[in-house]
Amino acid sequence: MSEYGRKRHPARTPEPLPGAGTRVDLPPGATGRFVIQEHQARRLHYDLRLEQDGVLRSWAVPKGIPTRPGVRHLAIQTEDHPLAYLEFEGEIPPGNYGAGTVRIFDRGLWALVRARRDSLRFLLVGEVLSGEYVLVRTGQEHWLLFLRKPLADGRSARRS
Ligand code: MN
Repeated sequence: MSEYGRKRHPARTPEPLPGAGTRVDLPPGATGRFVIQEHQARRLHYDLRLEQDGVLRSWAVPKGIPTRPGVRHLAIQTEDHPLAYLEFEGEIPPGNYGAGTVRIFDRGLWALVRARRDSLRFLLVGEVLSGEYVLVRTGQEHWLLFLRKPLADGRSARRS
């Protein structure tokens, strides 16, 4: 991103500033939309979906997305979902996979901070949640999700 910044003067171009709003340099293309759906199925869980490479990478988080540092929640990776799922809420009729009620809990943009073989560090900037999160793989489909640090403006607090 330093070359991008060197070639552009913020006052003379409407293009986004490199790293605007964050101190993190992002690899090109490593941003996208995200959605978190509250899914009242057989058991209540939250589905975290990150847009990447034209699909939504997905995790089911039974205890919900942590809202303070130090709390680690199991996240079970599930199948990639189509992008249209970003907008989905409604009733999945009885007898179908995931039968129950889906409602959008939060949505916004995410940005990759660092990807390693078994971990993903990323920013979430949503309407409800915002902060730097980490997913660490602990098994085939099992990951741990935790909040590494809330964003400085305190937006990680839930809206009341
Ligand atoms: Mn689900």
